[in-house]
Amino acid sequence: ALRNAVVAAYPKLSHRYYALKAKWLGLETMQIWDRNAPLPIEDDKLVDWTAAQEMVLSAYAEFSPEMAEIAKPFFTKGWIDAAVKPGKAPGAFAHPTVTTVHPYVMLNYLGKPRDVMTLAHELGHGVHQVLAAQQGELLSSTPLTLAETASVFGEMLTFRKLLAAAKTPQERKVLLAGKVESMINTVVRQIAFYDFECKLHAARAEGELTPDQINAIWMSVQGESLGPVFEFMDGYETFWSYIPHFVHSPFYVYAYAFGDGLVNALYAVYEEGDPEFQAKYFDMLRAGGSKHHTELLAPFGLDASDPKFWDKGLSMISAMIDELEAMED
Ligand SMILES: [Zn+2]
Repeated sequence: ALRNAVVAAYPKLSHRYYALKAKWLGLETMQIWDRNAPLPIEDDKLVDWTAAQEMVLSAYAEFSPEMAEIAKPFFTKGWIDAAVKPGKAPGAFAHPTVTTVHPYVMLNYLGKPRDVMTLAHELGHGVHQVLAAQQGELLSSTPLTLAETASVFGEMLTFRKLLAAAKTPQERKVLLAGKVESMINTVVRQIAFYDFECKLHAARAEGELTPDQINAIWMSVQGESLGPVFEFMDGYETFWSYIPHFVHSPFYVYAYAFGDGLVNALYAVYEEGDPEFQAKYFDMLRAGGSKHHTELLAPFGLDASDPKFWDKGLSMISAMIDELEAMED
């Protein structure tokens, strides 16, 4: 259901967004290195650590004071390693220790708006891990399908708060474009990867494949998912080899799209104003890995096996693209 819903939505998501982006960049056609290029309208203002903490905790508190309370000790008790230093591992994560203690968060905070979102993301994991700890060592960690729920939800709360606080249409446009771009990377791109794997494995079941045949599958999926504005450089046909998941954890990539789509659907329920939403949401996080997603989503009236469920989340992305298009003169 997820794969089909996303593939059907390529034209209204990635094709439309990249056509806008090409226009902003003043390009007729885009190359793959333009895909994630910074927008010319972005400024390079930095957010200091105190302001980032304020932004994330207040976004959490507006959703529920309890959520901010759980997140607070990460800052006040030194559970976050945020500073960049020589020899430190790149990236970011939240990691539990044992369920009777508390998790830690690792970041490389440089003050970019993207780093504020990463903080919101990892703290979401942290809150999830604290709440799920009551399940004990064996059942606290969530399956892949739910692993990114609280993190992406925490990001969404922070993004909505920043969006509401935008002072100019320009600021709003930069925030919306950034969010759309990152959701396209998570939803469209990862499903295109998954689709490539399905087609590759199906072809391989029919017989051995040459590199040219693998390249051809890759290019057809890339063209279909990124849209007509892209012109692919020579050599891009072997870029399937840069995704380690294809070899080390086949089909894993769907989980990113699953997580984002799930949170967008949950967020849509939250926006519809269910007064019990917060209580249900905390119950879901407290369940850790003890229940299947069908059971956990039922209280919200959601069912991930229904293609309409995924459309709910995809509509949120396309509504943001509608707004970006409407901002054009
Ligand atoms: Zn995460």
